[in-house]
Amino acid sequence: MKILVPVKRVVDFNVKVRVKSDQTGVELANVKMSMNPFDEIAIEEAIRLKEAGKGEEIIVVSIGPVQARETIRTGLAMGGDRGILVKWDAEAEPLAVAKLLKAIVDEESPDLVIMGKQAIDDDCNQTGQMLAQMLGWAQGTFASEITVGDGSLNVTREIDGGLETIEIKMPAVVTTDLRLNEPRYASLPNIMKAKRKEIAEKTPEDYGVDMTPRLTILKVEEPAGRQAGIKVESVAELVEKLREEGVI
Ligand code: AMP
Repeated sequence: MKILVPVKRVVDFNVKVRVKSDQTGVELANVKMSMNPFDEIAIEEAIRLKEAGKGEEIIVVSIGPVQARETIRTGLAMGGDRGILVKWDAEAEPLAVAKLLKAIVDEESPDLVIMGKQAIDDDCNQTGQMLAQMLGWAQGTFASEITVGDGSLNVTREIDGGLETIEIKMPAVVTTDLRLNEPRYASLPNIMKAKRKEIAEKTPEDYGVDMTPRLTILKVEEPAGRQAGIKVESVAELVEKLREEGVI
């Protein structure tokens, strides 16, 4: 089984994001960037399938600036086999990313695409679903467990009411949720080995995809700051305060 894993370079999850003074977006200058955490989970799952003898090749794909090469390299150090960087310096919206991934899938014919359920920068949660639709493939979103059957997958999905397990035919698109696994750290020897793994460099024109944005960001605002809490001495005082505040 050939597995494709799209990974996005995003602001590191530990960074306190600040809105730019002109409210056009968030500050990215001198900010630590990393692989989207859900995509690390996707790489880990692909590696586990390979280690279990159910996967043969893992291809790591990123659409982004030249620095996204490092994000791919991280995936290769974890255990990916080769990479594809589609160089694009501006914002890439989910629709354009899905179109590029569709073109790459057409070229590479993987059996499975495992990707994050959402990118933590735009929180769109759209790309996997769009890709599955464009390919006409089955999709298992928000996966917290995947088991491989004969030409099919059982995907346990995190849904509002609890967990739902579905059986889907391959080829398929699966998007990862937080509880699917705990991604490994790349070992030093594997980081060194990854330096020799191939990363092909492409452009959106190579795939004939129009990257023109469909969305206009009107304004980005910080959430309102939270007010400090107070301590009360008794339940009676708590009830009185809640009444005063109109909460009850
Ligand atoms: P989104 O729909 O933007 O929340 O992203 C969902 C998933 O799509 C991410 O977790 C990635 O696996 C994939 N993805 C989105 N943007 C990119 C990108 N520029 N390059 C590679 N993969 C991406």
